Amino acid sequence: MRLEIDGWSSKITFSATHLIPGHYKCGRLHGHDYAINATIVGNIGAGGVIMDFISVKEFLRTVAAELDHKVLIPRRDEGIKEEGAAIHYSLSGKEYMFPTEDCALLDVGVASAEELANFVLARVMEKVHFPDNVTRVEIGVDEGEGQGAWTGADLRS
Ligand SMILES: [Zn+2]
Repeated sequence: MRLEIDGWSSKITFSATHLIPGHYKCGRLHGHDYAINATIVGNIGAGGVIMDFISVKEFLRTVAAELDHKVLIPRRDEGIKEEGAAIHYSLSGKEYMFPTEDCALLDVGVASAEELANFVLARVMEKVHFPDNVTRVEIGVDEGEGQGAWTGADLRS
């Protein structure tokens, strides 16, 4: 059985700026409205439910709030340098400089929907307590409605 959380209707959304290095179009700085979706797989547990998913929604909203109206910076990109209160980003002969306070520094190589999904999943696995009957958690990050990347992790076998 599975619980599904739809980020758009649950208002787990954020707007942010990013770029995808080397992409003919997405290599230019641009923005999206994003939504974070989740699926929780498990057996029915205490109280006839898989789990109370309000706490999961609330946690996902705090993650969305951290990213909202920020420039998404992939910290593992070699072109990223933190200098004082600024982030320098050089790639393919272009130079960007952003105030650090306007950026969300993510432990990823590219600020793609795929890597954002991995980032959100890692945060969820670190912070959310799942009851024993939950076997799998999946996170989807949509870049605009109808297109997104999903990732997941098994909790116990
Ligand atoms: Zn994009």
